[in-house]
Amino acid sequence: MSSYHVVVIGGGGTGGAIIHDLRQRGIEATLVERGELTSGTTGRHHGQLHCGARYAVKDREIARECMEETYILKRIAPESLEANYGLFVALTEEDEEHTPIFIQSCVESGIPTKEVPVKDALEMEPNLNPDIKRAIMVPDGTIDAWRLPLQFFAAAKHNGAAIHTFTPVTGFTYSGSAVSGVQVFDLKTQQERTIKADLVINATGAWAGQVTKMADVEIPITPGPGTMVAVKKRLNNMVISHLHPVGDGDIIVPQRGLSIIGTTQYKTDDPDDIAVPEEDITEMYRCADMLIPSFSRQKYHAAWIAARPLAGAASSVDDARNLSRDFNVVDHGPLDGREGLLSVIGGKATVLRAMAEQTVDAVCNKFGITEPCRTAETPLPAHRAYFA
Ligand SMILES: Cc1cc2nc3c(=O)[nH]c(=O)nc-3n(C[C@H](O)[C@H](O)[C@H](O)COP(=O)(O)OP(=O)(O)OC[C@H]3O[C@@H](n4cnc5c(N)ncnc54)[C@H](O)[C@@H]3O)c2cc1C
Repeated sequence: MSSYHVVVIGGGGTGGAIIHDLRQRGIEATLVERGELTSGTTGRHHGQLHCGARYAVKDREIARECMEETYILKRIAPESLEANYGLFVALTEEDEEHTPIFIQSCVESGIPTKEVPVKDALEMEPNLNPDIKRAIMVPDGTIDAWRLPLQFFAAAKHNGAAIHTFTPVTGFTYSGSAVSGVQVFDLKTQQERTIKADLVINATGAWAGQVTKMADVEIPITPGPGTMVAVKKRLNNMVISHLHPVGDGDIIVPQRGLSIIGTTQYKTDDPDDIAVPEEDITEMYRCADMLIPSFSRQKYHAAWIAARPLAGAASSVDDARNLSRDFNVVDHGPLDGREGLLSVIGGKATVLRAMAEQTVDAVCNKFGITEPCRTAETPLPAHRAYFA
């Protein structure tokens, strides 16, 4: 057991996976979240377990990581996943032309694909557009956006982690120029206090830039909001994706009794100041109907928006769309002269465990701890264990 204490800011999936990994490697750890756990982007994402096929053509590294993490999550957290597979469908002649590149890119990324005759695809998914031209099956799936992180939080809590919700970080404390802790405001007691730390990890996703600003550090991060619309019927069992170079409204994820179409792509400076544009709902219905023509005739359930934590600076929406979905661990010591502070930026919910592994490897390197990461082999407790 080490004597170092690490504070993690942010109670989304990334923060949950990090605090679990820290405790498993014997590091004392405290997590502070300004709201409820998963109240940021994590609790509002599309719910797709990405095998990486969506990224294989243009974003090879994250495609590979998604595939590897899909295998791992199926081993360690099956209760939060549906292994329902995904079907990429070509709708136009251009899509058909794109299909060989798509298949080749998947193969090169280690993602198994299987072409399914259109007749069989329509038998498997009877609500699909009958005019589809090709159908490629891949190992995508569905994630319960809330249960998966809760499984990590449950493991961390029962392994001695301190987790404080409704506790926003309002600033940092310093020893010289190095971060020595965080200042927080406890919303339950209405008290300010300081939590000392040997190292602070900023795992605040789309808010990461706002948090580093409190330490006078700028990081390249682009919050990229996107809209999703859910209808009250499970129209497809597999995740249905439009097989084309990536665009808006091209994935329908089945989630229990719902079907969810998403998403759009914007760019914002403030991830708290986002609302669903009315026209997004019409556009999502239009896109969904191209894949499943009865989508827009179903009972409306909900529309919501969440901000992607895109790593990199973007000056336009197109720039933001082209940013990689991969993640980086940034050590603000060598980079910005702010020792004691790490940020983890970018990524996807699917790769939360890998993001944590790289972050905690960086922590161990700094402290000279040789304990290896074991999160890929350790099954997680049930999400309900968090409340036990
Ligand atoms: C529209 C959309 C669809 C997506 N769909 C998918 C998908 O289908 N599959 C997939 O794998 N990924 C998907 N993603 C990506 C995925 O949702 C994110 O990569 C992931 O949820 C980010 O998790 P996180 O823990 O890093 O950030 P968050 O979940 O945002 O967690 C950061 C936390 O930090 C907290 N915080 C902020 N400031 C402070 C402060 N000062 N003090 C304390 N706490 C603070 C916030 O409240 C928040 O809870 C999608 C994203 C979007 C936007």
